[in-house]
This record gives sequence, structure tokens and C-alpha cells, in this order.
Amino acid sequence: MSLIEISDLSKTYQTRTGDVTALSHVDLGIAEGEFVSILGPSGCGKTTLLRILAGLEGHTAGTATIADVPIGAPRGEAGMVFQKATLLPWLNILDNVLLPLSLRRRVTGADRTHARTLLTMVGLEDFTTKHPHELSGGMQQRAAICRALVHDPAVLLMDEPFGALDAMTRDALNVEVNRIWRETGTTAVLITHSISEAVFLAERVVVMTPRPGRIAEIIDIPFGKT
Ligand code: ADP
Ligand code: ADP
Repeated sequence: MSLIEISDLSKTYQTRTGDVTALSHVDLGIAEGEFVSILGPSGCGKTTLLRILAGLEGHTAGTATIADVPIGAPRGEAGMVFQKATLLPWLNILDNVLLPLSLRRRVTGADRTHARTLLTMVGLEDFTTKHPHELSGGMQQRAAICRALVHDPAVLLMDEPFGALDAMTRDALNVEVNRIWRETGTTAVLITHSISEAVFLAERVVVMTPRPGRIAEIIDIPFGKT
């Protein structure tokens, strides 16, 4: 049984210069707790696929479900991490992490404890009252991962989260993400341009090709991280 079920999914954007088919007949099932990387060149539809899973973008044909529920408007099943940490500059780190909760309801003491636990998991326990500009890029991205996880989403979606960081920071965060994935048991989907990152983190690598965006190959990574 798959947690995420994508079946014959297609997406065409209507633009002023004509239709652009971003995804064509994509089939993919992702099991609960699985880590899947999506690898492929620019324009192969990686971001479109992730945004559809996040409920941020509609699709043109086919079906996509999370836990048997059709993906529609964002309802919080997914936590999303973008390439640039999109922390709000006027909020401190703890309040940034709590944002997905505070937008929905009153934040409780238990919520704060949960957010602090996540921040401790990524080594930011001493930075909860700092503001984003006081942290390095790598630290901001760690906080963004905590924010994506704070409402215990069914799926953690990451769109090139470390693309803008230097190689050493990226390697350190790969280790961090691997640990978070194992400790939380979350289902994770990561978009990356990096073959080594895809193989290091994922149990399966989905290789996509452009024009139109489709799945070319799905590779099982034999030495699973257990
Ligand atoms: P990737 O993330 O792999 O680079 P995208 O999903 O961003 O691929 O884009 C896939 C295709 O869809 C590309 O040809 C791109 O130009 C097109 N596209 C993406 N977003 C839009 C949009 N909002 N409007 C029109 N075309 C788009
Ligand atoms: P990484 O995020 O991989 O740890 P960084 O270059 O972001 O790499 O930071 C390396 C370390 O340097 C951090 O873990 C932190 O301990 C320290 N550091 C970086 N920036 C700051 C800062 N603005 N204030 C305090 N410590 C910092």
C-alpha cells in the first residue's frame, strides 16, 4: 500500500505563447516512511510534481492521492522546504518554526516544546530567540526543515533545499536530513540536481526527462540506510 499514489498524472500550463506540457503520464507510488529522490535536468517537471503533491498547483489529468485522499487545496498533509529558506525576517527562529501552527490556531505550550525539540534535533537549540539574519544560510535551512515538520505532516517535500549552499554545508545537511528522516519516520520526497545527494539520501531515485516531463527510470538504491 502506497501513502502517495500518483496515477497517469499530466500537467499542461497554458501560456501566452501556447501550451507547455510539464508532466506527461506520470505513475509513481511512494510507501509510508519511504525516502524518494527526484533527479533530472531543468525543465523536466520536478518542481511541478512537488507543487502538485503540496496542493500548491492543480493538475490537468490523472489522479494524485495522499492516504487515499485526492490532493486538492493545501490542507497540511505536506511540509515543504524551498531552495531558499523563506523564513519571515521579523519573527525569531522559534516563532518561524511555529508559523504553520500559529496560522491555523492558538499555539500551546506543547507546540513550543515540540518546536524546541525539532530545533534541538538540528543543533539550533541556542538560536530560538535569534532572528533569521543572525544565522548562516545552512542554519536558516535547518530552521526551515523544522518549520516544515512542526505540524507532523504526512510527507516532507524538499525542492532543492541545499542548492544555494556551499558543498561542505550541503554535505553536513545531507547527514542531518538522513538523521531526521530516520528519527521521525517521515515520508520524504527530495528534488535534487545532484546524483550523489539523491543516492546518499534516498531508497529510490526517480529519474525524469524533459519535453515532456516524464519518468525515465526508477532506481532502487541497494545499500539502504537502516
Ligand atoms: P524542473 O523543476 O524540473 O526544472 P518545472 O516543473 O519547473 O521543471 O518546469 C517544467 C516545465 O513547465 C518547463 O518547461 C517550464 O518552463 C514549465 N513551467 C513551469 N512552471 C510554469 C508556469 N507557471 N507557467 C508556464 N510554464 C511553466
Ligand atoms: P552548517 O549549517 O553546516 O553547520 P554553517 O556554515 O551554516 O554550516 O555554520 C557552521 C557553524 O558555525 C554553525 O553550526 C554554527 O555553530 C556556527 N555559526 C555560523 N553562523 C553563525 C552565526 N551567525 N552565529 C553563530 N554561530 C554561527
